[in-house]
Amino acid sequence: MLTSTQELLETARRNVYAIGAFNVYNLEGVKAVITAAEAASSPVMLQLHPSALKYGKAPLVALCMESARRATVPVSVHLDHSTSAQDIRLALESGVRSIMADGSPLSYEENRAFTRDMTALCHEYGAVVEAEIGRISGTEDGLTIAEKEAKMTDPDQALEFVHFAKVDSLAVTIGNVHGEYKSPPRLDFPRLEKIRRMLDLPLVLHGASGLPEDMISRSIQLGVCKFNVNTEVRQAYMEALKDEICGDSPKDLLEIAGEAIAAMAEVITDKLHLFGSVGKAHLHETPYARSLAAYEQA
Ligand SMILES: [Zn+2]
Repeated sequence: MLTSTQELLETARRNVYAIGAFNVYNLEGVKAVITAAEAASSPVMLQLHPSALKYGKAPLVALCMESARRATVPVSVHLDHSTSAQDIRLALESGVRSIMADGSPLSYEENRAFTRDMTALCHEYGAVVEAEIGRISGTEDGLTIAEKEAKMTDPDQALEFVHFAKVDSLAVTIGNVHGEYKSPPRLDFPRLEKIRRMLDLPLVLHGASGLPEDMISRSIQLGVCKFNVNTEVRQAYMEALKDEICGDSPKDLLEIAGEAIAAMAEVITDKLHLFGSVGKAHLHETPYARSLAAYEQA
């Protein structure tokens, strides 16, 4: 069931769990996310990084939208980390109603203005916007931000930013990194708690690959209701391909695709358990759930 991101996040926040947002690049990725979510009766988000959008363009967006519509669990489709008004327009015109307008590479003033303009545009389409202040370090899709350039989210600035730009959710930087954690992760929970106290909106944590269970659950308790996962799923995909292609007995193309889907789905299932969203599909308000409830009452 194609569902709005805002509904997914608000319901998760109210019931103290989080939605897993998984980056996808092709049919195998989409199948892995939907298969895992359906088997776990979990809501989920399909995310397209701008590099995926550049690669797959409108046909890839259409694949995500149609897969979300046909899923038996609530699914939303989201454009991740977009710094380009052109990409945001393409996604909106292809039916995506959930956008991350990412002005974090810009100065604070420019980020504010970019995010406000993109939010106004997205709201015209009835789309919701996630933004980021502070800057997350690490590597994602070939883009590396050095640790010294990383900036933690300042709670006072976050308050001012959200009111000015009128965004619907906020990605925070509290020590989380994109890609692999080079040393054991350390998250600044007092900072998260302060942000939580000051802001009444869904909080998002990027870089959930490699975060241990206790940090995930503490983050959820402190208002995080969306985790972005990319690296671990990609690694599972690449490993599966390597094993299958380099194995002794060459397999058929679809068999290899199936192995890759299964490997990704395993990682995704683990994350859905960590995020607490397993078995929560029924809590979400969807047109389908509403019509089912009406049918059962009649
Ligand atoms: Zn990210």
